[in-house]
Formats: sequence, structure tokens, C-alpha cells
Amino acid sequence: MCGIVGYVGQEQAAPILLDGLSKLEYRGYDSAGLAVSGKESIEVVKAKGRLHVLNDMTDSGRTVVGTCGIGHTRWATHGEPSVPNAHPQCNSDRSIAVVHNGIIENYTDIKEYLVKHGYNFQSSTDTETVAMLLEYYYEESGRKNPLEAITKMMNRVRGAYALGILFSDIPDTVFAVRKDSPLIVGKNETGTLIASDVPAILKYTRDVYYIDNLEIAQLTKDSITFYNTDMEEIQKKHVHIEWDAEAAEKGGYEHFMIKEIHEQPRAVRDTLGTCIREEGDKISLDMSAYGIAEDIIKQMDRVCIIGCGSAYHVGVVAKYVIEDLARIPVDIDVASEFRYRRPILSPNTLVIVISQSGETADSLAALREAQRQGNKVLAIVNVVGSTIAREADYVYYTMAGPEIAVATTKAYATQLIASFLWAIHFAQVRGNLDEAQVEDLLRSLMALPDQISRILEDKE
Ligand code: GLU
Repeated sequence: MCGIVGYVGQEQAAPILLDGLSKLEYRGYDSAGLAVSGKESIEVVKAKGRLHVLNDMTDSGRTVVGTCGIGHTRWATHGEPSVPNAHPQCNSDRSIAVVHNGIIENYTDIKEYLVKHGYNFQSSTDTETVAMLLEYYYEESGRKNPLEAITKMMNRVRGAYALGILFSDIPDTVFAVRKDSPLIVGKNETGTLIASDVPAILKYTRDVYYIDNLEIAQLTKDSITFYNTDMEEIQKKHVHIEWDAEAAEKGGYEHFMIKEIHEQPRAVRDTLGTCIREEGDKISLDMSAYGIAEDIIKQMDRVCIIGCGSAYHVGVVAKYVIEDLARIPVDIDVASEFRYRRPILSPNTLVIVISQSGETADSLAALREAQRQGNKVLAIVNVVGSTIAREADYVYYTMAGPEIAVATTKAYATQLIASFLWAIHFAQVRGNLDEAQVEDLLRSLMALPDQISRILEDKE
């Protein structure tokens, strides 16, 4: 799953698209492309390899005229990395262009159906079927109703997708839809934007809307309208992203991972600051903001921690700490296993889902499974407003700031801190620790940022 950026507004689109895509380069990709609506047609430029090839082909976007467009960096899942397989993918006469993150699981069935109806496919991607299917339904509506074509397409495809869509008939409009792949939209003084991740548009806006599963956004230069799959307009609240653009840049470091390692003292301090209160020589823990009633904590007979990769390993540490301090048995599950077995949760099990991005697909599916069984879920996540944060019953945000490196460092450190804080809180509420013991533990935690700094100073 790679990068999507879209823009419609007063400014030339292509340079903004390329700039946004460059902020998503860290995710890895094999090809890139963009599509910009002209007066009557859509101009598509694609290249295999690095983004600079596309930059060179278009003089950093300046040769692609137009103020409404979509861009993509692709990580191939269906079809080799090549120019025909790069996105945007188009319908037969290039009147519809699509960028896609994710996988369309039933694309072979749809493709067979469309081939029988005379459609000619040019790529080996699953994404091309979306463009063709949109054409099929758009024609069915007499080329009048793009929204209807989009909702019909959404009802027909299975799988995960975040999509940016252009129709040449509707030149100053970008459509954005998603299911199980993240997509955000934002607005600034010059126009509106879509992106698959915050860093891509942080330079342009900090007020964003998270598109929920099976929602559609229609963007023009000065408006964003949201619809559900019944084509009814829906209202959404925006989220203000506190991270500044600099936080998502390398800031003089050689690469993101070394920068993020050095940010650990700050990240840990900010995370501790969310709930540790110091007044004079008193120190205390205040978790009241997170809304888990003391009765729930007292009745808890088990904790089930779910995560993927490093977040799972945080769970392994958390088990030691929660069992040691709060004397509650803890199970840990790899999210992808949890969702595919038939997990047994007692009614008084608190489920804790840990995820940096808050978009980890398996962790989200596990959260939904736990809620389906009637259990409450506490999410420990880093990205404000992310899907897991929105769907969980309780949310604790770690304060790592944007983590760009794929190998986690500061987000992992703050997740560990969160586990310690919750363990102390559980233990205190259940009467396993007295005030003096709590104070001792909190002081040890508060000493950590300086201790981490000293280790980093001495790293050579
Ligand atoms: N499945 C699509 C393809 O292979 C999209 C991959 C991606 O998310 O970049 O073209």
C-alpha cells in the first residue's frame, strides 16, 4: 500500500502532487504517476522507478497544465512494476482516471465480466477494473451521475481500497473513497486536498477530515461534500493535526530513523506529561480523562493485548508489568491470529489494541471482533483521529509525533511508557499499590527522559 495525493484549487496541481508524493517516499514504491484534468481530457504521466524520473519528465510538474489532479506512488501487488501497471489507471477512452491503494480481491471476476462486455484491458493490475467498472456504471447512468457510478462500483468490488478518482466530464472535481485503507481530505485558502497519510499534505493544511469506511468525498476548489453509499450527504468533523510540517521532515539528520531515535527523550517526556501531575514534592497519576470507570478496572478478570510486529512486543513487556503490579492475568495476541481464530473473551476482559498508525488492518479487525463479542477496547495509538482511535471505546494517545521510519523507535518507546502508566493505574485502582509505591514508580518513569538523553549523548 503506497501513496495517494490529490489537489483541486487555484494553483497548478502537478507540482503540489509531486511535492506531496515526495513526503510519502519513505514508504517505498516502485513507480509513480499523476493525472491532471484539462479542458476536455485527462493528461496522464507515469514512470517506473523513483519519483525524480517523473519530476524530470515534467520539470517538477510545471509542464503538466491544470489545477485539478491525482498522484500515486505504487507498491505493486498485481502486475509487475512497469509503466502500463503504474497508476493512474484509466478507462478505455481516458475519461476516468483512478489511483488506488490496496487490493481488489474479486478483480478477476469483474474483469471477466467486463471483457465479455467488450472492455479491453491494458494492464495486469486489479486497479484497472475499478476504472473500467466506473465507466460501465457511468455509461449506465447516461454519463450523468458520477456518484451513482462510484457507489455501484463500491457495492461490486471486494477488498481494501483508498481511491482518488477524476472524471473528464467533471473537470474541477476530485472524488475520494475508501474501505480499509486510510484516506484523509483537507482544505486550505487555495483549494482542497486528499492524501493517504498526513505528511503528504501537512505543508498545505493541518485541518483534515478522516474519510470513514464506505464514505465518499467530493472535492471542488472551495468545498468538500461527504456522502454515504446511499448517496445521502453526511456531515463530518475535522481534526486539527498538531504536528507541524517540520516534525515530518528530516531536520538535518541523515535519515528518519536516526532522527526519531534522538526524539525519544522528548517523546517519552510528552507521553508521561499526559497523565503524571507534579505539585511541589507530590507526584500523582491522573487517568480520569480516558473514561475507564474504576468499577470496570476492579471487575477486570483478564487483559487481552493485541498488536502487530513491534506493538505485539510492547504487549509482551506489558504482560510482565501488568501481571506484576496489578495482578491481572494478561493474554497477548498477534492481531492477524486473533482475527482468524475464534478467540474466547470473558465479559470482564479489557482488550487493549496497540498501533502506532491506528490504521493497522489486522489490529482494526481484531478490535471489531472484540467489540462484536461485547468487550470494551482501549486503544493505545499515536495518530490522532485514526480509524482505531475512532472506533475504540477508550483512547490513549502516545505523544511520539509523526513516525516516518518503518522500523519503529520513538513510537515503540512511548507505547512501553503507556503500558507502564496503565499498569500502575490498574494496580492503584485495585489496591495493589499504596501511594508511596505509586510515587516511587512515577518518579522512576519521570527520570527516564534524562537517562535516555545521556545514553544518546554517549552513543558513539
Ligand atoms: N493493487 C494495486 C496495484 O497493484 C495497488 C497497489 C498499491 O497500493 O500501491 O496496482
